[in-house]
Amino acid sequence: MDRLDKFIATHSEATRSLAKMAIKAGRVLVNGEVVRDQGKKVSEQDEVEVNGVVITKSGDVYLALYKPVDVVCATKDEEFETVIDLVDGFTHKDLHIAGRLDKDTTGLVLLTSDGQWSHRVTSPKHACEKVYRFETADPIDEDYVEQFAKGIMLRGEDKATLPAKLKILGEREGLLTLTEGKYHQVKRMFGAMGNKVESLHRESVGGIGLRDLEPGEFYELSEDEISRF
Ligand code: URA
Repeated sequence: MDRLDKFIATHSEATRSLAKMAIKAGRVLVNGEVVRDQGKKVSEQDEVEVNGVVITKSGDVYLALYKPVDVVCATKDEEFETVIDLVDGFTHKDLHIAGRLDKDTTGLVLLTSDGQWSHRVTSPKHACEKVYRFETADPIDEDYVEQFAKGIMLRGEDKATLPAKLKILGEREGLLTLTEGKYHQVKRMFGAMGNKVESLHRESVGGIGLRDLEPGEFYELSEDEISRF
C-alpha cells in the first residue's frame, strides 16, 4: 500500500507536487470516486485515474507501436506529435523509446519503462535484428549485397558497419536487416553507395512485428515477446 500522491508520482510522469495539486483540484479518481486526501492508501488493485487517464499500476510497460510518418521519436516536441503522445493511456514515469526512427520513417517502435530491456534491444552486442523495407531513388546494384555484408565505413564513424543482410525485392526496393542502430544508418549506408532512400519502414525488431496494427496503433507485448530479449 502506498500514499496516493506517491503512487501517482511512481507510476506516471507527474512529480509528487504535481500529483498533490491534481489531488487537491479534484482531478484524481480512485475506483471512480474523486479523492482529495493525498495520504489515502492505495494498492495495485485500485484503479487510479488522473485527468481522465487511468495510470498503469504495476510492473514495467512494454509496447509495440506503428509509428506513422511525421510523428517524432522524442518524449516532448513543440511542433510535432510524439510517439509518447500516441500511447497516452500508458503513463509510466520511465517510459522511453527502445530504438528511434526518423520523422519520415514509418513502422515498428518499441517503448518500455525497463532500461535493461531496452539496452538489450538496442545494443549492438546483443545483435537484435531490425528489418527495414526501403525504396531507393536509383536502381539497387547486386554489388550492394556483398558490400553491406562486409560492412562499410560511414562518414564520421571510426568503425565499419556490422554485417548487414540485403534482400533485393525489385529494381528500387528491398529489405535490409541490421543488428545495430547508428544515426540515420540505413539512409547513410545507401548514401555511401551513391544512392538515396526515398521511403523507409521498419517491419520488425527481434522477430516482433506490427501484427495487424494500423498507423498510430499499438499493442502490449506478451510475456513470451518480452522474454525474447
Ligand atoms: N535508418 C535510418 O536511416 N532511419 C531510420 O529511421 C532508421 C534507420
